[in-house]
Formats: sequence, C-alpha cells, structure tokens
Amino acid sequence: MREPAPTGIPSKLLPQLADFFLRGFEAARARFSPPISLEGFDVESRGRPVEDEAEREGREAARLRNEGLTFGQIARQVCRYRGRPGHRCKKPCADRIRQAHQSYLRREEQRRTDRELTSSVAGEQIELAITHLR
Ligand SMILES: [Zn+2]
Repeated sequence: MREPAPTGIPSKLLPQLADFFLRGFEAARARFSPPISLEGFDVESRGRPVEDEAEREGREAARLRNEGLTFGQIARQVCRYRGRPGHRCKKPCADRIRQAHQSYLRREEQRRTDRELTSSVAGEQIELAITHLR
C-alpha cells in the first residue's frame, strides 16, 4: 500500500519535507523506551521482545565468528552462565549461541533496512514513511 505525496506540494519541497518528518520521527522515537521502530510495522518481525542477554550473546558471537572461532569456543567466552559455579559450556550452550547469532544477524538485516528507510530523503521514501506512520 502506497500513499502518493499530497497534491499541491511542489516536488522540489519533498526532500525538505521528508527530512522534517524523519527528524520528527527520530525525536519521537528517542523519547520512547523501549524505542519505537519501523520494525514493529513488519509482521514478520513481531513476536516476543528480544532478551538483552540473547542480543549480547548474538552480537558477541557475530564478532567472534568473524575472527574464525567455532560456536563451542565462542560459548566459553560469551555464555551468560559462564560465571556460575559448576557450569561448563557444552553443546547446549554452543547451540543456544548459534541460534542467538542467527537471530542477531536477522535483526541486524532488519535494522539496516530500517536505517535505509529512515535516512533517505528521496520523494519515494517519504511516501513510504507517511504510509508507515499512519
Ligand atoms: Zn555455558
């Protein structure tokens, strides 16, 4: 679903208008906790909120994967339970972190898409933004 830009607005002004709306959107977003996001309008990404620990494990895992570590090695560095007495990171930890890593990459992709949407000031993007903000 797409809304055309309102009639009567010179197309030259659309980039400024888009900029204005998006600054308003960012200002409003900054006031909410947890922050609102265009992500919420995406049915695919709805679901239970991401736990901070899972987010952290996923983010750290992504960094360590880039350094070539296995999920077993990563688990021993980032597992949320690693400080618990008697805990030793084994396959269940590695599996959980592998999953946190996958989800993290998916969210990063979604966040990248959000950023592209919200930072663009092109006329086509303002139409999209208006649609989403309604
Ligand atoms: Zn563990």
